[in-house]
Amino acid sequence: MKKGRPYARKRFGQHFLKDSNIVQRIVRSAELRECDHIVEIGPGRGALTTRLLDTGANLTVIEIDRDLANDLTKQYDKHDRFSLLNADVLKIDWSEFCSTDLKTKLVANLPYNISTPILFKLIANRHLFSVAIIMVQKEVAKRICHKGDTGNRKDYGVLSVIADSVFETELLFNVPPGSFVPAPKVDSSVIRLVPKNNMINDEQIFFDFVRRAFNQRRKLLVNHLRKNEEAIFQRLSEGDLSFLEGTRPDNLTPHQYLSLFYHHEIQ
Ligand code: SAM
Repeated sequence: MKKGRPYARKRFGQHFLKDSNIVQRIVRSAELRECDHIVEIGPGRGALTTRLLDTGANLTVIEIDRDLANDLTKQYDKHDRFSLLNADVLKIDWSEFCSTDLKTKLVANLPYNISTPILFKLIANRHLFSVAIIMVQKEVAKRICHKGDTGNRKDYGVLSVIADSVFETELLFNVPPGSFVPAPKVDSSVIRLVPKNNMINDEQIFFDFVRRAFNQRRKLLVNHLRKNEEAIFQRLSEGDLSFLEGTRPDNLTPHQYLSLFYHHEIQ
């Protein structure tokens, strides 16, 4: 790859990793074996790509930038374990490049401008993955990995509840702006997401229920339920009602949101 390529395209959220220690830590976090299939979203100039291929695993990369995709093809085409899709990751069908027999590992330094839509696409396709090791803005990482019981309330919200309902989440380590060219304005963090085995019925309806609750963040949750979630409110037991007394949307853990939605006693 031409190291001196003069541009970074802002519209594609391009911040290229230059710190080889960070690259190694990300790759190590994925605990890769030769039999693994890895997907990398946004390989860019190949900082992670080369190390991922060094593990002996099979790698599929998806890059939207045509110039970078051409450079990557030239650099890695001789590897028979490498394949590249020059495409927008939000527009393609992920089941076409993931096997259903062998679960895929996702490893990526995500374009920050679209990290939330990518996260939701990962949620919808999580049955295809055994683990995701992804870098996102630190602020987003804190929200995704917040468990709702301890920590700063301001980081707890819709993303925390939704992510915890479908993944085991863990913030692995932080990465300073100086680890990238060009340097972003914010800190970054690498997180690990492992899909839970649970099935969530009416998943999208549950997600919308959580979104509505957090839209009323300052209100008492019970008042919001009474006014806007009649079916759920009607089924609350005496115990639930006394539990919810004085509770605001950000006082309920993800597990308690699931209980509330699926009509289990809240504890
Ligand atoms: N992996 C490289 C690294 O760590 O140095 C680059 C990471 S950079 C933060 C994000 C990469 O995602 C860029 O290469 C960018 O062109 C690519 N990208 C942005 N939007 C994309 C999309 N919708 N689909 C696929 N790739 C995208």
